Amino acid sequence: MEPNWMARGLCADQPPETFFPSDGVGVEVAKRICATCAVSEPCLEYALENRIDHGVWGGASERQRRRILKARRKDAEKADKERSGIARRVRIR
Ligand code: SF4
Repeated sequence: MEPNWMARGLCADQPPETFFPSDGVGVEVAKRICATCAVSEPCLEYALENRIDHGVWGGASERQRRRILKARRKDAEKADKERSGIARRVRIR
């Protein structure tokens, strides 16, 4: 079942190939449409959570989504290290 925000996306009235472009010009066209879409935030999160590799989602290209996921992984690793460092210091006391 598709999430309820999908029906409200501007892409619902566009040909699907618009959001699965084959070149950078097409990516920019899709991103311009996404920039005015009311559901771009849940759309981007959906694509990130579901590791969708292809197409423009939530105004982000495939490359941009890979970068976002990489940055989130790094942030999570840093937070884990900080938490384990705090736990170690608490045990030492
Ligand atoms: S942000 Fe873009 S891909 Fe997502 S629903 Fe809106 S128009 Fe479609």
